[in-house]
Amino acid sequence: MSDMTRHELKIEAFPLGPLQTNAYLLTLPDTSRGVVIDPGMNPGPLLKRIGDMEIEAIVLTHAHFDHIGGVDELRRLKGCPVYLHDAEADWLTNPKRNGSTMWPELGGPIATDPAEFALADRQQLKLLGLTFQVLHTPGHSPGSVSLLYGQHLFGGDVLFRLSVGRTDLPGGSQLELMESIHGKLFELPDDTIVYPGHGPKTTIGYEREHNPYV
Ligand SMILES: [Zn+2]
Ligand SMILES: [Zn+2]
Repeated sequence: MSDMTRHELKIEAFPLGPLQTNAYLLTLPDTSRGVVIDPGMNPGPLLKRIGDMEIEAIVLTHAHFDHIGGVDELRRLKGCPVYLHDAEADWLTNPKRNGSTMWPELGGPIATDPAEFALADRQQLKLLGLTFQVLHTPGHSPGSVSLLYGQHLFGGDVLFRLSVGRTDLPGGSQLELMESIHGKLFELPDDTIVYPGHGPKTTIGYEREHNPYV
């Protein structure tokens, strides 16, 4: 999927790895700079597209193994810093925490260096010369964040098209998930486009109307 929108932010999705986790590559036209959200496992197609592009940052919506499998390779190739919410500060270095020891058949233990920068609720994050807003949206995991730019919301595993994130993994909470969705995401305008961690994009208005889990 690909969208040209306000300030011409270009958004490309790469479903990666055994769980088809969406990595998003954000770029501006006429620049060779990009930002990557959630570089998942088996990042080959993403790395091929990036080529010799400069990557300003890797932003993680949360640190479950399927969202971080490509962090190490991308960081080594591009020397770019990683942003992650404080509540999951020790998840990148610890395969037990990031869940990669739970399903060995999906690829085995994943560990990498800790994030360079911590994300916090309502933080303004300047990337590609644009200002993104960070929303702390826990529930699926304690450090889940959603990243908002204009009408674009990168929501990780909080809200999916006609579904929501599971809350049975360590640090998950159904109550917090509902508070995040109703108290933060559903405060956004109906036409806000949600780019989730898995599956197709959707809108806040569509989910408010049709999602059976909220
Ligand atoms: Zn997850
Ligand atoms: Zn996921």
